[in-house]
Amino acid sequence: MSDGTLTPEALAQRAKLNGVELWALTDHDEIGGQQRAAAAAKAEGLHYLTGTEISVTFAHETVHIVGLGFDPNDAAMHAGLLATRGGRGARAREMSAQLEKVGIKGAYEGALKYVGNPELISRTHFARYLVETGVCRETHEVFRKYLTEGNPGFVPTRWASLRDAVHWITDAGGVAVIAHPGRYKFTPSEEYALFTEFKTHGGQATEVITGSHTAAEFVKYAETAKEFGLAASRGSDFHSPDESHTDLGTLPYLPGDLTPVWELIASRIQYASAH
Ligand code: AMP
Ligand code: MN
Repeated sequence: MSDGTLTPEALAQRAKLNGVELWALTDHDEIGGQQRAAAAAKAEGLHYLTGTEISVTFAHETVHIVGLGFDPNDAAMHAGLLATRGGRGARAREMSAQLEKVGIKGAYEGALKYVGNPELISRTHFARYLVETGVCRETHEVFRKYLTEGNPGFVPTRWASLRDAVHWITDAGGVAVIAHPGRYKFTPSEEYALFTEFKTHGGQATEVITGSHTAAEFVKYAETAKEFGLAASRGSDFHSPDESHTDLGTLPYLPGDLTPVWELIASRIQYASAH
């Protein structure tokens, strides 16, 4: 529903084929796909947890907080996500104006073709347009040359606060998870502050095994999880067969000495009748 290219049904099928047993669809700032994903999971014989990935601003950097196992009908969660999405349309127009100045025309309309809903327009959609029009060969090249800090098309944005995001998730009965901590450009003290404040607000888990981490980061964040007493999560961050390096269900298992995040929300798992 946000910046992936497959439908929830196609994702469920792919997850099943790849040997996934427990799945969560985690659209950015959006939970409109949860019913379809849960139904598709059931049809495929997959266990399901509700999911989302909330954009947060922390120490001048964008951090993603994954929510798992929350009530998808929670009113405060809906309102919070709606507000978080609200800035995307205006931001996209500014991104487009910047790109225009370096000779790239029609980027807003071009990106919008890939998403339909301006509320959900993201840098990924701009990246697809820049590949489509031959400005770059692939999306990773786009993020090296455009849309990132110091490059044309980067528009700093104020997302949700860490406190609000963690509260929306936990107040709705879910567990908050720091997404791909290895991806942020934090100093050691900023990273320490992120984990400390996250814990203070009620956050309970961190991704350890993710498509965005190197093998060294698997080890580093396993240690960080233990140091902060956090459960561990495993996520592919899969977006598209054409763009993602990590497919669903292909990452290594979590280290055995960590608490898997799903143990904290076992009662929230929607079990498939057959598996
Ligand atoms: P946005 O929420 O609009 O800031 O877009 C963030 C999304 O852009 C991320 O979730 C990724 O899917 C994508 N993205 C950001 N940086 C990169 C990168 N270096 N390579 C590929 N995709 C990226
Ligand atoms: Mn994304």
